[in-house]
Amino acid sequence: MKIFVPKERDAGETRVAASPDSVKKLAGLGARVVVERGAGDASRIPDAAFEAAGAAIGSGEDAGDADVILKVRRPLAEEFAQYRRGAVVIAIMDPYGQDEALRGMAEAGITAFAMELMPRITRAQTMDVLSSQANLAGYQAVIDAAALYDRAFPMMMTAAGTVPAARVFVMGAGVAGLQAIATARRLGAVVTATDVRPAAKEQVESLGAKFVAVEDEEFKAAETAAGYAKPMSAAYQAKQAELTAAHIAKQDIVITTALIPGRPAPRLVSRAAVEAMKPGSVLVDLAVERGGNVEGAVPGEIAEIGGARVVGHLNVPGRIAATASLLYARNLAAFVETMIDKETKALRVDLSEELQKATALTHDGRVVHPAFAAVAE
Ligand code: NAD
Repeated sequence: MKIFVPKERDAGETRVAASPDSVKKLAGLGARVVVERGAGDASRIPDAAFEAAGAAIGSGEDAGDADVILKVRRPLAEEFAQYRRGAVVIAIMDPYGQDEALRGMAEAGITAFAMELMPRITRAQTMDVLSSQANLAGYQAVIDAAALYDRAFPMMMTAAGTVPAARVFVMGAGVAGLQAIATARRLGAVVTATDVRPAAKEQVESLGAKFVAVEDEEFKAAETAAGYAKPMSAAYQAKQAELTAAHIAKQDIVITTALIPGRPAPRLVSRAAVEAMKPGSVLVDLAVERGGNVEGAVPGEIAEIGGARVVGHLNVPGRIAATASLLYARNLAAFVETMIDKETKALRVDLSEELQKATALTHDGRVVHPAFAAVAE
């Protein structure tokens, strides 16, 4: 079985879908791994490190006879046109609203698996790319905020006087938010956080931050069976906005991470709330790619609103690419392992198997995922 790891074609993508560790693991499972020359450059993994781990270094043409192609992003049409029919492609497919790409992959006869659709069950935790990448995004958001902030994070008691600790407010306390809280605490900030899921309260407090939220009846029922947030009513949002606006005015740093699966990100911070912040305040909107939690956040830019800066970096995990690639590659290798028959070492595509069924987008000429069935018509 040949596994090929191409260089990412998107100029903004610094990650790579393999690491020396994952190459070793895949080779140990009986695969022949070929990595495109320079694929790891932006993640600081030189070709020689892949070679030392047992990979061959190849060119883009190696895609043509690969059985499995491991990528960070969904392949472009010009890429999958080169894959053989029946090839398996595993990546973060970002499939919502990408009907043409889905149809294209189906017509090309490739079997495409979307890592972000992996069920969040115990058995698949090692394959959870949403968690591995969001965790790093939460960390990096605080690092980015600290780098822009013109003051110190920790309280400092010096001979020249005392400076107060920075006040950090984290909105959305899921995987990214909890890591942002932990990172801001390690830097010495006074941290508060909010969420609409009651379960988040204890998690926030266990990290040493204070929980700030409208804890009414709707809040008590805001978590879905899958552990995600429900969209909140207009009345709840109004109460939440009133409570948080007064709180935000006293903050130095705001990190927003709030998402609702399959929907645009909820708007949590108005332009007026940003304008009411102190000069020098920094907001980092990790939801900017999904429409943004902060009014006025611009994807890919640092916007100035009043005296504050609103950071809208894209691909935040890619800003910490060496670590992000390492963890992403481990997620991929763990998934590939479930597809390899231990005895024959052959690849077994079986869309009735739970993890493959949940993540398969296209197979055998068709769009097979029920959430995208309409695309096929
Ligand atoms: P997410 O990325 O979908 O959303 C981020 C956070 O935003 C969530 O905590 C959500 O409640 C919050 N949010 C949504 N709307 C909001 C609003 N209007 N105001 C404030 N906050 C709002 O979530 P996630 O980080 O993927 O995590 C969701 C849950 O899944 C968490 O409980 C997490 O611990 C759990 N989880 C479980 C597993 C597993 O069991 N394998 C893995 C990862 C995460």
